[in-house]
Amino acid sequence: MSDHYVKVKDQLEQMKSLGEDAEKQGVDAAEEVQEVQVSSLPPASDPQSIIIAGRDASNTSITCKQRGKSRSKPGRDAKHTSDLSSAHIGKNLNRMGNEKTLHIRGTGKILLGKPAESNGNYVTIHPSKNIQETRREEGFKHAKKRRPVTVDTSKAKTSLEALKLSIKQLQWKEFPLGRRAACDIYWHGVSFHDNENIVSGQVNKFPGMIEMLRKINLSRAMRTVQELFPEEYDFYPRSWILPEEHQQFLTQIRMVKENDATVNFTFIVKPDGGSQGDGIYLIRDPTELKLMAGSQAKQAVVQEYIHKPLLIDKLKFDIRLYVLIKSMEPLEIYIAKEGLTRFCTEPYQEPSQKNLSHVFMHLTNYSLNVHSSNFVHSDSQSTGSKRTLSSVLYRLAAKGVDIKKVWSDIIALVIKTVIAVVPELKVYYQADIPPGKPGPTCFQILGFDILLMKNLKPVLLEVNSNPSMRIEHEQEVTPGVFEYVPSPVDEEVKVGVIRDTLRLMDPGHKKPSM
Ligand code: ADP
Repeated sequence: MSDHYVKVKDQLEQMKSLGEDAEKQGVDAAEEVQEVQVSSLPPASDPQSIIIAGRDASNTSITCKQRGKSRSKPGRDAKHTSDLSSAHIGKNLNRMGNEKTLHIRGTGKILLGKPAESNGNYVTIHPSKNIQETRREEGFKHAKKRRPVTVDTSKAKTSLEALKLSIKQLQWKEFPLGRRAACDIYWHGVSFHDNENIVSGQVNKFPGMIEMLRKINLSRAMRTVQELFPEEYDFYPRSWILPEEHQQFLTQIRMVKENDATVNFTFIVKPDGGSQGDGIYLIRDPTELKLMAGSQAKQAVVQEYIHKPLLIDKLKFDIRLYVLIKSMEPLEIYIAKEGLTRFCTEPYQEPSQKNLSHVFMHLTNYSLNVHSSNFVHSDSQSTGSKRTLSSVLYRLAAKGVDIKKVWSDIIALVIKTVIAVVPELKVYYQADIPPGKPGPTCFQILGFDILLMKNLKPVLLEVNSNPSMRIEHEQEVTPGVFEYVPSPVDEEVKVGVIRDTLRLMDPGHKKPSM
């Protein structure tokens, strides 16, 4: 086992106890923004991490810390730094019953939850009103002194609208045409390489992330960890890579059928470079695979189809969760509290030969379902074909579902997935930005697509390196005439995600060096 996987083993052990503790403590997922910091090496010279984790900087640890989330106000700057002090004074706050602190076996304590106050659809989290207000005042003073953070938005492409709103809310400075002098942050719409001339600052993409998260590469990485830790990674459906594992696929299915002739499988086939449901089809028999595109063998993943998804209003839906990789070394992961759920537009039935081609029943992609006459564009966040994650969680909670458990399972799924892809990502990263060479640092928002099974177990479908940050949607205004119109649900969620990401990446809040 390589060094990395030994560390992974440690981390998985710790996560088990984290999960147990989280459930015991009854952390309310729907009311929290969570940061998960996974560090494989103790950042000994990093007081912030030591404070966050409340540990003695001598252990490998997995830490979770909650961060307040609010609509941007100038005072948020101060709130941001103050979160750290609130972690520092966690013990006192605990005594006041204001903060839940988790302990992870062998690693010290972990901050997980504080009570939340609703602020519209966002939640402002603070230990006490007075403390928050003081922070806000300090924030105003602080904000006045600092020059605004500069953001190069010239390559932002389809994220531009959401990005502009976020920058405006933060009162930062946007450079829509780029800037001769360096900017603090460069926002790229597609890849790290959108602009090759950056030597400082921070870029919102990691080199190699697109390649690493392509369907085949993700499946390969998941296979590696599944072989090592089958139980820990049982949230990723069994997958085979085509064309190379075609024979293996046929043999395995044949063997299962030989044992039990009544078994009925359904598989979903996904082209490697595909997105938005393009080229996806379902099959019930391995012979139905379309293996060739002209004279070329098709690169694809064939995957076990999850045939018993959780339904709401008889419809299949999936979750789009936004995850920020804030840094790779040490690995810091933030999970956005708010995400989206995308609904199918035809009532779900378990796959049968008759309904296999009903994409509106089996595929939750917005890009496909938007073309159904049943698609509901709604201004409300809790109805329609695209809803907020929190509205769905609340609805499930109202039905008696243990959403704390669901949320902690989702967090575990995210951390484990990131751990699985990090070794290769580091190789890409170091090839593009070798240690010692001047270059930017990187962060990235990823889009995790997660399906909840009927038994509430989350399943990872895929990870998008470029989740759509569009806040408009196409609408047929008159027959045959389409226009982009604002989408309130997208705006609420995506502007929040981008704004909070920017705040976390604010260079003014770099960890103090020793
Ligand atoms: P794309 O990148 O083209 O969107 P996905 O892997 O996200 O590809 O799959 C598209 C849709 O197909 C998902 O949103 C989901 O609704 C459905 N889907 C994908 N994989 C599975 C699976 N293993 N079981 C059931 N449904 C799936």
